[in-house]
Amino acid sequence: MAQLHNLGFPRIGTKRELKFAVESYWAGKISQAELLEKGKTIRAKNWALQADAGIELLPVGDFAWYDHVLSTSLLIGAVPKRHQKTDGSVDLDTLFRIGRGRAPTGCSCAASEMTKWFNTNYHYIVPELSSDQQFALSWTELFDQVTHAHALGHNAKVVLVGPVTYLYLAKCVGREFDKLSLLEKLLPVYQQVLVKLARQGVQWVQIDEPILALELSDDYRHALKASFNALAGQGVKLLLASYFDSVSAYYDDIAAYPVDGVHFDCVAAKVDFTQIDSLLSADQVLSLGVVNGRNIWRADLDAIFSTIKDIATKRGDNLWLAPSCSLLHTPVDLEQEEKLDDELRSWLAFAKQKGQELSLLKAALEINDNRDLVTYSAPVKARLTSTRVNNAVVQQRVSALTVKEGERENVFAQRIEKQHGALNLPLLPTTTIGSFPQTQAIRKARRDFKAGELSATDYQNQMEAEIRYAVEEQEALDLDVLVHGEAERNDMVEYFGELLEGFAFTQFGWVQSYGSRCVKPPVIWGDVSREKAMTVQWTQYAQSLTSKKMKGMLTGPVTILFWSFIRDDLDKPSIANQIALALRDEVVDLQNAGIEIIQIDEPAFREGMPLKATQWQDYLEWAAYAFRVSASGVKDETQIHTHMCYAEFNGIIAAIADMDADVITIETSRSNMELLDAFENFDYPNDIGPGVYDIHTPNVPDTAWIKALIHKAARKIPVERLWVNPDCGLKTRGWEETRQALDNMVKATKELREEL
Ligand code: GLN
Ligand code: ZN
Repeated sequence: MAQLHNLGFPRIGTKRELKFAVESYWAGKISQAELLEKGKTIRAKNWALQADAGIELLPVGDFAWYDHVLSTSLLIGAVPKRHQKTDGSVDLDTLFRIGRGRAPTGCSCAASEMTKWFNTNYHYIVPELSSDQQFALSWTELFDQVTHAHALGHNAKVVLVGPVTYLYLAKCVGREFDKLSLLEKLLPVYQQVLVKLARQGVQWVQIDEPILALELSDDYRHALKASFNALAGQGVKLLLASYFDSVSAYYDDIAAYPVDGVHFDCVAAKVDFTQIDSLLSADQVLSLGVVNGRNIWRADLDAIFSTIKDIATKRGDNLWLAPSCSLLHTPVDLEQEEKLDDELRSWLAFAKQKGQELSLLKAALEINDNRDLVTYSAPVKARLTSTRVNNAVVQQRVSALTVKEGERENVFAQRIEKQHGALNLPLLPTTTIGSFPQTQAIRKARRDFKAGELSATDYQNQMEAEIRYAVEEQEALDLDVLVHGEAERNDMVEYFGELLEGFAFTQFGWVQSYGSRCVKPPVIWGDVSREKAMTVQWTQYAQSLTSKKMKGMLTGPVTILFWSFIRDDLDKPSIANQIALALRDEVVDLQNAGIEIIQIDEPAFREGMPLKATQWQDYLEWAAYAFRVSASGVKDETQIHTHMCYAEFNGIIAAIADMDADVITIETSRSNMELLDAFENFDYPNDIGPGVYDIHTPNVPDTAWIKALIHKAARKIPVERLWVNPDCGLKTRGWEETRQALDNMVKATKELREEL
């Protein structure tokens, strides 16, 4: 009968124990021995959780102190030169230095870059490889973990990032070279790992090659084939795992790999079960990822049962069942949630519950009886028609949307004329991206207010005092377009989620974002609507304090969508349009309250791109449309800004132009304005504010540096269309450095206005 396994489990612990342990170690509060012990306890607990839920084959090697790609780099000895120890050995501090640029002991050197793991919000540490890179089996913690799992009596399946995916994700240091040329040197180390694991009695090793979900060049396809040829026959059985999108383009390749089993993600894209069954021989294992590993919804087990029942009978022991991908992307345990009402809770399943779902499914398959599944999945079906979820007014409004709601009254060239007349701003207007330093006092007030220890009036007074302070500072700095500073917002998505209908918040629904950083995404469970204005009062108050223009500040529909757990019963464009309509009402209310400039942030616009290029156009169209719906309810004179953080803009400028914001502010200072090239080459038509200093460090840029950057920008974009601003919001900075940096920014701009 079917065997149950997990591709990976959240490593952070039910109460984020791993985060607190590593952070105490970094702060010198616990020793390395204590940290190692805590890690061991967390791993044991994670295995126990899974085993109790009924998972039979437990992942080992999915745990990571910081990131699993970084652990792989250490395993194979790919340590950047600047982080190497003189004796060539690697240890936990080596790992932390690569991830963070420092560790409790040893030198501090720039951390390696991090970037998004495929289309998730998890970030991995980018391996740095040189053309003469050597690899050697270096960090042996994996083998200790195996020993530990075996000692606890678990049936362990070791999980490894596949060698070809590893190379694909790496970056070249020094000159560009063909990374695949390193495969020949890398494979012997993987072989060594497999041989060692075999000696430890490991039967199965899962080789993750998620790049199969991308569009691969022939070189990569050959590399995958060569890799599996080399890894087979080392004494362990190999399970190829891919996930996050369809791999159907490579079915023939996969069928020819000499592996003992293949896992398919059956959730991310539609899978033809008969077809994948026919790819594998009867003695190969077919693993079906049938429960969504990336969301938090209870599965419709009854529906899954009917789709896999035949194939399960046919394959018997050689059918495995699993979540679609590693559960790294889901919170750990729903049982901890105390504040969700029963109905909402009955719709959800976190990592542990997903294991239980597989057990239920297996039990039903064994007796060929789906009755328990029908009972279990009844809430899923009820949710579909629930009046709590479905809001007829919202649905009608979305279905009535036409091209017109996504268009401003007139084109940019006409709007900007009117805006110049109405706003009367100088050449190179100066502004900021929205937030000002979130001081201890601000955080405490918010905490106390939420805990009921600060009254609504006191909270309001304190926030108004913070707004007043931020406005006074900006006036003293002589900035042109002011902001209220976002003191009342803890997070740019959570703030709106709490005020919109259709959102829920968990207490412990954390997922790892990078290193020890975790995020708790809101849950969009129903149709989204706005009961009342969300930002008007604060913004209006801020405007009342100054005769300068106050910029209203909102988070855009695409960003709210991608930084939340979204419904699985409605398509993304529809969810985005619902949010967009709620925001559109807010934008109009702001305008009617006398706010003439409104910024709608879309930092997640780029990251929402699907994995496959063939799907980009469709995505960019609906995403830009949703943004325009939020922005287009206002008259021409009202100026709409948007903001995006550091991103690869090549290839998406047309879509950004399609968003048709009057002004876009982007992060460019670290790339020395090079990111503007894409805008220049495209002849991007609207106004742009390229960031003139990096807000990620406390360093204060001097006037000459800023002037040089603006000069550089002015060579790429006509100066009449340039704005001057920092790269991003200032909430993580202190006031002292913020004041100095902005002072230099304003001075530099004034000098330039004289010179130009
Ligand atoms: N307005 C937000 C801020 O200033 C934008 C943050 C972001 O781009 N991530 O904090
Ligand atoms: Zn930003």
